[in-house]
Amino acid sequence: MGSDGIGALDGIKRIATEEAYAPPDLIARYKQLIRDGVTGDAGFESLMGYFLFNNSERTNAIVDRLQDLGQRRLADMDATGVARQIISLTAPGLQVFDADTAAGLAISYNDQLAEAVGTHADRFTGLAAVAPHAPSAAAKELERAVNHLGLRGAIVNSHTQGEYLDDEKFWPLFEAAESLGVPVYLHPQTPPPSMIKPLLESGLDGAIYGFAVETGMHLLRIIMSGVFDRFPKLKLVVGHLGEAIPYWLFRVDFFHRGIVSTGRYERLKPLKLKPSDYMKRNVYVTSSGMAWEPVIMYARSVLGADRVLYAMDYPYQYQPEEVLVTDHLPISQPELKQFYQSTAQQVFGI
Ligand code: MN
Repeated sequence: MGSDGIGALDGIKRIATEEAYAPPDLIARYKQLIRDGVTGDAGFESLMGYFLFNNSERTNAIVDRLQDLGQRRLADMDATGVARQIISLTAPGLQVFDADTAAGLAISYNDQLAEAVGTHADRFTGLAAVAPHAPSAAAKELERAVNHLGLRGAIVNSHTQGEYLDDEKFWPLFEAAESLGVPVYLHPQTPPPSMIKPLLESGLDGAIYGFAVETGMHLLRIIMSGVFDRFPKLKLVVGHLGEAIPYWLFRVDFFHRGIVSTGRYERLKPLKLKPSDYMKRNVYVTSSGMAWEPVIMYARSVLGADRVLYAMDYPYQYQPEEVLVTDHLPISQPELKQFYQSTAQQVFGI
């Protein structure tokens, strides 16, 4: 265990739930897309271009770590006392490719991830990559990944080429996830072209703020669309303590009620419950990138202690000292076990 005091907690396993990897083939494909300049996605080209072409010590360390599903990752986990990583394909995953390419890559990358998870079954759990823009293929691939590969959910990196999961054409994925009893992890990516300009010109497009603005909005769109009335048992997991949405729930509930009653918007239809009720019933939030006691405690108080899980956001936010923050939350040992271990075991079926 680490030399900085991070060690085994008494009877508690740290499970980190939003941990990224990238097959070398994906890195090569991203580089090619950026060199060719064909995506029309300024956010992707700026952020991924920085990681893949900046060639600094910091970015090289992240890109190297992303591609390791073996000894280096395990050593980093040991150094931070992480017993298990829940691993998923890094953002923006396959959503930057055309639908056919993305659906094909999902199959081969899920096979590769399942093999690594099988080799290190005591340390790794995997989430399936999917191509949301090939909706029936995505549902089929999730079924294959769960039933035949042992993966434990799917990851979607927010918008898909500017489209959002509140559109019913994407719902076969939700239907499959609900019937399989596995969660969909709604992870950020850079905002789409229709939203990127004021964020990119101010340097706020990425993890600093733009991710949360875009993904938080996506979460609200999903809730408002009635997805959770259609699929009441669907589980959504959202990082960064809910992308700031827990802070907004009072006002969202108030204005949702009022706006629906005016009939101003075709899309805003009455829901069976208040928006905040779906956050408490269908959504789990993780502490990825947010090792900050006041906000973790706030999310627990608003959503319930059983809705908040630990995540690190490896390797992007691999900061060993941050583990000490969550070790010292002002909660009891059984509550700490719930935060680090038991909720993750229950949500991901470990
Ligand atoms: Mn992440």
